[in-house]
Amino acid sequence: MWLSSDIENHRQYEDFNATALYCSKCKQAMPVRDRLLLILPDGELYEYICQRCGSSVGTKKTTKSRSELSI
Ligand SMILES: [Zn+2]
Repeated sequence: MWLSSDIENHRQYEDFNATALYCSKCKQAMPVRDRLLLILPDGELYEYICQRCGSSVGTKKTTKSRSELSI
């Protein structure tokens, strides 16, 4: 027997590019904006900020193309 709520939660975690992430302060999925946190040698680190309470709800790392680095 499938629990539909479990499936929905799983999908949210898989799609990390979603514009809404779970905020532990708001105790629900909230719209987020991303902010550049760090510039790394191989990419950039972004932080997701809850639009309601302004707390960090996660980070995302974007990497430059690996073929470019291997040269
Ligand atoms: Zn929040």
